[in-house]
Amino acid sequence: MRIGFLGLGQMGTAIAANLLRTGNALTVWNRSAERAAPLVEQGAVLAANPRAAADKAAIVFSMLADDHAVESVLDGQDGLFQGLAQGALHVSLSTISIGLADRLVAGHAARDQRYLSAPVFGRPDVAAAAKLSIVVAGDPADMDHAAPLLSAIGQRVYRVGDKPSMANLVKLGGNFMICAAIEAMAEAMALVRKGGVDGQRFIEVMTGALFDVPVYRNYGAMIAEDRFVPAGFTAPLGFKDLRLAGEAAEAERVAMPLLGVMRDHLLETIARDGEAVDWSAIGRTLARRAGLD
Ligand code: NAP
Repeated sequence: MRIGFLGLGQMGTAIAANLLRTGNALTVWNRSAERAAPLVEQGAVLAANPRAAADKAAIVFSMLADDHAVESVLDGQDGLFQGLAQGALHVSLSTISIGLADRLVAGHAARDQRYLSAPVFGRPDVAAAAKLSIVVAGDPADMDHAAPLLSAIGQRVYRVGDKPSMANLVKLGGNFMICAAIEAMAEAMALVRKGGVDGQRFIEVMTGALFDVPVYRNYGAMIAEDRFVPAGFTAPLGFKDLRLAGEAAEAERVAMPLLGVMRDHLLETIARDGEAVDWSAIGRTLARRAGLD
C-alpha cells in the first residue's frame, strides 16, 4: 500500500519513521523540505507538494501545527483535496479545532474522499517509541481500514464516536486536564519551596503517595528542575489548545473558569520566557510570582 504523510515536525518525523517500518511505500511532504532528509535516507520519497504526496496513496496522514497549517495544505492545484483519490482516506493526527474537523468532513465528502480525526496523546519521545495513545472517530469502516497503521504508531487506539470532531473534543479535553495538572503542581511547588521544602523531594512524595502517573512524574520533574528547554510541547502549541478548548466550551455553552486562569499564565510565560519553552514553564512563572527565582 502507498501511504502519504504531510508535516515532518517533531511529532510527524517520529510517526512517519514508524510508518516506514511497516514496509509500506511512504511519500512525505513538509513545508521546509530539508526536514525530510532523515526519512528519505530511510527510504521515503519526498514529494514537492501535498497533492503529489497524496497521489496514488490509499491513506494520507497529516501532522501539522494548527488549523492554519492544515488549511494551507488543502486547497489549490497543489493541495491535498486535488491529490487524494476518490475513496482514499485522510487521517488528521493534528490537534485542531472542532470547526476545522467538521469542515474537513464536508470537504472530503464533497470529493468522495474519506476522513478520520485521530489526534494523539504522547510527546515526541513517546511517538518515536510507537507508544502514542490515539483517539479516533469517524465511520467505523474507515476506522477498521486505518486500524493496522494506527496500531503501528501507537500502543492503544480509543474509538470515541462516529463523528470525527468527537475525537478532537476528547483531545482538547485531555490537554485541558494536563495543563490543569501543570498548574496545580506549579502552585503547590511554589508554596512548599517558599517554605523551604526541596521541589524534587516534593514531587517524589506526590508521585509516590498520590499521583503515580506519567503526567505528574514527567512534568513534575521538569518544574522541580526548572528545565523547560528543549521543549517537548511548546508553550505556543499549548496556548493554541487552550484557545481551541475555550472555543469548544463557548459553542457547547459550558463554563470552564479554570481555563481562563491557565490561558493567562501560559500567555505570561510566553511573554517573559519566549516561544521556545515547554508549556510546563508555567512553573517558573508562578515561582517568580511567589518571589522565588
Ligand atoms: P512542530 O514540531 O512545531 O511541527 C509543526 C509542523 O507543522 C511542521 O511540519 C511545520 O512545518 C508545519 N507547519 C507549521 N505551520 C505551517 C504552515 N503554515 N503551513 C504548512 N506547514 C506548517 O509541532 P509538533 O510538536 O510536531 O506538533 C504537531 C501537532 O501535534 C500539533 O497539532 C500539536 O498540537 C500536536 N501534538 C504535539 C505533541 C507534542 O508533545 N509535541 C503531542 C501531541 C500532539 P515546518 O517544518 O516547515 O515549520
